Amino acid sequence: MKKENCVKQFLSCMLVVFLVYGVCITSSAKSTAAGPGFGEYEHVFIIGVDGAGAAFGITDTPYFDSIFSEYAFRYDASAEDVTISAQNWGSILTGVPYNVHGFTNNSIAATEHDSNTGAHTIFYYARQAFPAAKLASFVNWQPLNYGLVENDLNVEKRAFPDNDPALTAALEAYFAAGNAPKLLFAVLDNPDHIAHKYGGFSDRYYEAVSEADAQIGRIHDAIEAQGLMENSLFIVVADHGETAGGHGGQSPEELSVTVAAVGHNVKQMKLPDGARNRDVAAIALYALGIEQPADFECFDPQVLFGEERWIITPPETPGVPDEPDAPEQPPAPCKWCGEIHSGLFQQIVGFFHSILYFFAHLFGRR
Ligand SMILES: [Zn+2]
Ligand SMILES: [Zn+2]
Repeated sequence: MKKENCVKQFLSCMLVVFLVYGVCITSSAKSTAAGPGFGEYEHVFIIGVDGAGAAFGITDTPYFDSIFSEYAFRYDASAEDVTISAQNWGSILTGVPYNVHGFTNNSIAATEHDSNTGAHTIFYYARQAFPAAKLASFVNWQPLNYGLVENDLNVEKRAFPDNDPALTAALEAYFAAGNAPKLLFAVLDNPDHIAHKYGGFSDRYYEAVSEADAQIGRIHDAIEAQGLMENSLFIVVADHGETAGGHGGQSPEELSVTVAAVGHNVKQMKLPDGARNRDVAAIALYALGIEQPADFECFDPQVLFGEERWIITPPETPGVPDEPDAPEQPPAPCKWCGEIHSGLFQQIVGFFHSILYFFAHLFGRR
C-alpha cells in the first residue's frame, strides 16, 4: 500500500473516532465526576418561598438561621432575568434558563404539562431513576402543580390556595403519618401575596417572611421527628424578590434570591459567586445520585459537599460564631542544646546553635 493511502486511512479512522466520541459526549449526561455527596441522600426536600428574595438575610428568621447557619447558603444568589414566578419556578425545577423552558404564569395556568412535551422537571429524572419512589408536590399556587410538575409521573400533588398555614399543617401530618418522599417540592406563597398588597419593603412583607420562616421551622421539625434528616437534603429557595411596586424587573431587590441547603455532609460555606436559584435542580439530582442532564445550565453541585467548614468567606449573619483561632504553638526546644531560646539575646544564641546543628549533621557527627 502506498504511504499516501496509509495516511488517508489513518486520518479517516481518526475522524470516525472523533465523531463517535463527540456524539457520545453531547448525548450523555454532563457531569460524570461523582464526588462527595453524590447519591448519598435518600430524600431531597425543596421548600420554596414565593417572593422571599433576599429577605431571609434582612428580617428576623430564627428558624432559617438555626437550620442553615452551619451549612451552605447565600442570600443573593441570582434569579432569572425575568423575575416572575413561573419563569423562576420553571428554572428551579428544570435547571435551564427561562427562555429555554418557556414556562410563564399564563402557560402553566392554561396548559397541563406532561412528560412528552416541553422541558423536563427534576421529577421526570427522579421518576426515571426511582420508578417506585414516592414523589410529592404541595403548593399554594395551584398552576405549579398543573402546568409545571408533569401529570404523568405519579407525583402526589396537593394544592392549598391562599393558605400557607394549611399547607404547613398538611406537611406536618404527611410526615407524621410516616410518608418519606424521595423528592418533595413545597411552595409557600404568602410573602408574594403580601408584597402585592402592601409593597415589598413594607413591615407587613417582612412579617410575612418571618411567618414563612416559622413554617419552614415546623416542616423541618416534622422531618426531623421522623429521623429523616440523617439522610436527607433540605433546601430553601426563593423564586424572586420584591420591590415597592411589585416584581418582574431587574433591580437587585428582585434578582437577589435566597438559596440554602443542609445535609449531613454539606459544607459550611457561602454559595459561590454566580450561584443561581436554578442550581437547586442540579443539587437535588446530584444528592439523589442522578447524573446532571446535558442541557442543564447549573453549577457543579460537588462544591457544596465535603467536610470543610467556612471554605469561603462566611456570610455576615448575626449569631454565627467565628471559627476559633488555632492554639498558639509553644516555641520548640533548640536542636543543639535542648534549651528554649526566648528573648532577643537567646534567639541570637539559638541562631548560632542552629548553624552548629546544621554543620554537625552535614558531617554526620550528631
Ligand atoms: Zn413569585
Ligand atoms: Zn408575585
